[in-house]
Amino acid sequence: MRHLAGRGVQDQRVLTAMRWAPREWFLPPHLAGDAYTDGPLPIGSGQTISQPYVVALMTERLQPGRTDRILEIGTGSGYQTAILAYLASGGTVFTVERLPDLLVEAEERFRRLGLTNIVTRLGDGAAGWSDEAPFDGIIVAAAAPRVPEPLTKQPARVFRGILMLGAHVSSQGGVPSAPARGAALQADVIQLFTKTPNQWREPTIAADVIERFHSEVRRHGLEAVVAHDSYLINLASPDPVLRARSIESFRSELTRSRSLGLRAVVSHPGNYIDDRAAGLERNADGYAECLASVPGDLDVWIEGTAGSGTALGARFEELRDLRNALPDQIRTRVGFCLDTAHLHAVGYDLARVEAVWEAFDRVIGFDLLKCLHLNDSRAAAGSRVDRHEWIGEGQIGPEPFRRIMRDSRLAGVVKIIETPKRDDPLRHDRRMLRRLRAYARGNTRALAGV
Ligand SMILES: [Zn+2]
Ligand SMILES: [Zn+2]
Repeated sequence: MRHLAGRGVQDQRVLTAMRWAPREWFLPPHLAGDAYTDGPLPIGSGQTISQPYVVALMTERLQPGRTDRILEIGTGSGYQTAILAYLASGGTVFTVERLPDLLVEAEERFRRLGLTNIVTRLGDGAAGWSDEAPFDGIIVAAAAPRVPEPLTKQPARVFRGILMLGAHVSSQGGVPSAPARGAALQADVIQLFTKTPNQWREPTIAADVIERFHSEVRRHGLEAVVAHDSYLINLASPDPVLRARSIESFRSELTRSRSLGLRAVVSHPGNYIDDRAAGLERNADGYAECLASVPGDLDVWIEGTAGSGTALGARFEELRDLRNALPDQIRTRVGFCLDTAHLHAVGYDLARVEAVWEAFDRVIGFDLLKCLHLNDSRAAAGSRVDRHEWIGEGQIGPEPFRRIMRDSRLAGVVKIIETPKRDDPLRHDRRMLRRLRAYARGNTRALAGV
C-alpha cells in the first residue's frame, strides 16, 4: 500500500478496499506467492490479472460511490469486480465476461468473500447491458481502443482506459464545441483555451454555456479537461502595469476554468526581464495571489519552458524553487507539466528518458508530474528553440515516445499532443494519437486484462 501511495494513489477508500481484498485468492494457486508483485500475471485462457497499481488507478479514476450501479466489461479474475463491489456496498456491480471458465471461477471467489451485490453475465461486453442501464459508471478494459458505441448510451460516466492521452483542441465556436473535437480523436483527455490566447480580452462564460460544456464532457466520456493559459501573461514582469494586467488575466483564467470544472490550468512561468531571482519571486507571488483569490479544486500545473530569452522554469531546479516559494496552503494545488520538445530544447537528453525522470524525481518528486506535452522537435538539442514537430519525425525520434507510452508510472499522467495541425487538424491529430497508441499497445494489453 505504501508502494501505491508512493505512486500517487491517494484515495483512502481505494487504498482501504485494496487492503481488504485478498489478491492471492484471485490467482492460480502456484502464483499466489507473487500476488503483490508489481506486474500483470496470467490467470488462464490467455488472460491476465492487472498489477495492483493499475487496478487502484482505474478504481480511483472511476470514483465509485457507495450506492452506485456500476457496469464492468471483462470480469477476468474478478479482482477489480470485488474491489468495486466493496466500495459500492450499497449498490450493484454488473459484470460481463466472455470466457465461461473465468466467470465460474470469479463467481466462486465472490461467494467466498461474501459479496452479494454482484450480478454476472456471460457474453460479449461490447453490447453493454442495456436492460440494466443507465449506470453511474462503466469500466472498460484498457485494451479496448475505444468505448463500444452502445456503451456510450448507457452510462453517466465511462471509464475509457488508462492511456490518459489526447490533444490540444480548438474552442472555436465556444468551449462547448471542444469535447466533441476530442471525441472525434478518440481522446481520453483534452486541453483547450478558455479564451482567445493572444488577446487581453477576458470573457466571462454564461451559465448555460457552462451547463452545455459539462454535458458535452460527460457525453464524450472525457477523463480530464485542462486549460492552457494565455500567451500574453507574464507574472514575472518587472513592469507594474504589465504585471497587474497579467495577474488580472490569470485570475480570470482560473475563474473561468473553475466554473467549467476543469482539472487544472497549465501555465508557463514568465520572463524575468531584469533580474532572475526577483522575477522568480514576482512570478511566485502572482501565482499565490491568484490561487488564493480563486479557491477550490482547480490546480495549476506549471509547465517547464524551452528557456529562450529570460524565460523562467527551463530547469527542474528552477521549477522546484518557484513552487517552493509559494505559501503552504497554495503549494498543494500546484503540480507540473513537462513538454518533451522543451526538455529537448533545454538540453535534457530524451534518448535517456528514464534518466530525465530520475532527475525530475530527485529534484522535484515524481508524484508532482501531472501532465506531459508530447511533441517532437525541429530544433537542435540544447538550442533553447521551441519548434514542435510530428511525433517520431523530428530530432527526438520515436524511441523516447515509445518508452513514455509504455511506462506504467506515467499511466495516470495526462498526455497532450501539441503537434503541427497544418492544413487538417483532425487528420494530423488522429494520425499522431494513433501512432502513440500503437507505441503503447504492447504494454497496455498486458495492463488491461483485469
Ligand atoms: Zn505550453
Ligand atoms: Zn512548446
